[in-house]
Amino acid sequence: MIEIQGLTKTFGHGPNAVTVLDDIDFAVAAGEIFAVVGPSGAGKSTLAQCINLLERPTSGSVVVNGERLTDLDEAGLRAARRRIGTVFQSANLLSRRTAAQNVALPLQYLGVTKTQTQERVAELLDRVGLTAQADRYPHQLSGGQRQRVGIARALALRPSVLLSDEATSGLDPATTDSFLELLTEVRDDLQIAVVFITHEMDTIVKVADRVGRLDQGRIVEQGAVVDLLLDPESALGSALRPRAA
Ligand code: ATP
Ligand code: MG
Repeated sequence: MIEIQGLTKTFGHGPNAVTVLDDIDFAVAAGEIFAVVGPSGAGKSTLAQCINLLERPTSGSVVVNGERLTDLDEAGLRAARRRIGTVFQSANLLSRRTAAQNVALPLQYLGVTKTQTQERVAELLDRVGLTAQADRYPHQLSGGQRQRVGIARALALRPSVLLSDEATSGLDPATTDSFLELLTEVRDDLQIAVVFITHEMDTIVKVADRVGRLDQGRIVEQGAVVDLLLDPESALGSALRPRAA
């Protein structure tokens, strides 16, 4: 379970200060996918960086399983970050390491033994359907396969939260669908809280349980996807409804 409470992020000081995130509130339960949708510049990537605390929020809290990560010092934070696995748009794989070696990285940093690492990597690659590609380098993988390696790596330390920022951007529709299917498997099998950040409206109906619309740094509307779809008054609902053919 992750709770974002009154999260605000301001860059710069004094007259040059820009508030990019303004009092963001939402919670995502274990086994739930919460989508954050919004146009370019809405603050989505800044929100992602604040959630995994690569950026310190100016105020407000990030709480994971009851622990307020925003209260921790750097040392505490290094340990706590393990609870949030992140998948980025470009997957950010190391080009000189194979798929298996990329997935192994977080385990190696933690000093997990070689045998345990190998077992865990095999299990993770199996989960994302890439056992046969274990020894390929990133440039020998398709975009969708690279994203799957990114998910496997994000899951390596058994996080409670999986955070994805524009992970399907640049993927073709079929590859996007199989990526979304993998996300729902992760949600259901591992009971992880998934925060799925996107600007692509049509991915949301396929994957999200609930959705929040971010606009100019504020969550202007949020709710269960089914409720929004059925609500004729909801702007988000009408944006989510498939257009009549
Ligand atoms: P996109 O869909 O294009 O990825 P986004 O919703 O992810 O957009 P952000 O990257 O979070 O948007 O940026 C939101 C706003 O915050 C933008 O106006 C951007 O210029 C501003 N911003 C982001 N990082 C900084 C920074 N370090 N200093 C100042 N302003 C910043
Ligand atoms: Mg972005």
